[in-house]
Amino acid sequence: MVTIKSQREIELMRIAGRIVALAHKAASEAIRPGLSTKELNEIIEKVIIENDAIPSFKNYNGFPAASCISINDQVVHGIPSATVMIKSGDIVSVDIGAMYKGYHGDSAWTYPVGEISASARKLLEGTEASLFKGLEQAKANNRLTDISHAIQKHAESLGFSVVREFVGHGLGKQLHEDPPIPNFGLPGRGILLRPGMTLAIEPMINLGRKEVRVLTDGWTTRTLDGSLSAHFEHSILITENGCEILTKV
Ligand code: MG
Ligand code: MG
Repeated sequence: MVTIKSQREIELMRIAGRIVALAHKAASEAIRPGLSTKELNEIIEKVIIENDAIPSFKNYNGFPAASCISINDQVVHGIPSATVMIKSGDIVSVDIGAMYKGYHGDSAWTYPVGEISASARKLLEGTEASLFKGLEQAKANNRLTDISHAIQKHAESLGFSVVREFVGHGLGKQLHEDPPIPNFGLPGRGILLRPGMTLAIEPMINLGRKEVRVLTDGWTTRTLDGSLSAHFEHSILITENGCEILTKV
């Protein structure tokens, strides 16, 4: 069931979203060659806790950390580790969730470290642009898959491919609520978007082919062909005139 949030709920989600954005700001400032992904996770977790929130991902279905950190050909759900060091030339996808007074915010961003390749830069710019193409369609009286279609169309126009196995989602009291929001498909389908709906839009885009595989840790997901992958996500509120991004400072 897709819920419409009350003004009180929306206010709490604005705060949760802002805390996620603050954690991203700290992560983006700290990320550098030689930092382990565990150290980066600790910086993120500290911001969440200092702002009286709870890391949404920690212990979610058994996930062991406050953030997912996925490097290069890792698509999503990388587990922070003391033995994984960030290097110059990496692209690092950082996915962060925070719950404030019972309501979640969720946002992912892929950060370049040092000098990255031209193709990596094109992937980051193209995936971020695909997210915003989707957000342009996230408005009252559009259909859900107008978002999906806009993301796929833009990503594929750049020669990239869209991951099928993971999708965006509603969020609120739960980290993952209805509706699932694919980043692909025909427009004009699915539910009618209404003011007060809160959604996480999150394209995962590969430089090569779309297929992915989950590693034996049960979490870390890589591209099957070893190509780079990027992930950009914002939590939003549907309004009369468009959408309000909740996960920005
Ligand atoms: Mg996320
Ligand atoms: Mg999400």
